[in-house]
Amino acid sequence: MQDKCSFCGRNRDDVNLLIAGANGFICDECVSQAYDIVQEEMRSKSNLDLEHLEIKKPIEIKEFLDQYVIGQDAAYAPFTPSKSG
Ligand SMILES: [Zn+2]
Repeated sequence: MQDKCSFCGRNRDDVNLLIAGANGFICDECVSQAYDIVQEEMRSKSNLDLEHLEIKKPIEIKEFLDQYVIGQDAAYAPFTPSKSG
């Protein structure tokens, strides 16, 4: 029995790449088609523009966290000697 794409039915010999899954195979062409479909679905469903999706960059996340780190620094301010007395 020859491996073949579970989606389009092409044999391993007829495709560039056959990727094995748990219950079947998918060829490189079906993967790229599926990818296009996913992209289209994502766009049409939520008007979500993946390319302009606002994702916080690591540096921004760090800056955000730094606010709390600074706050902690203040909380752990060094021991201040009391005024004379
Ligand atoms: Zn296929």
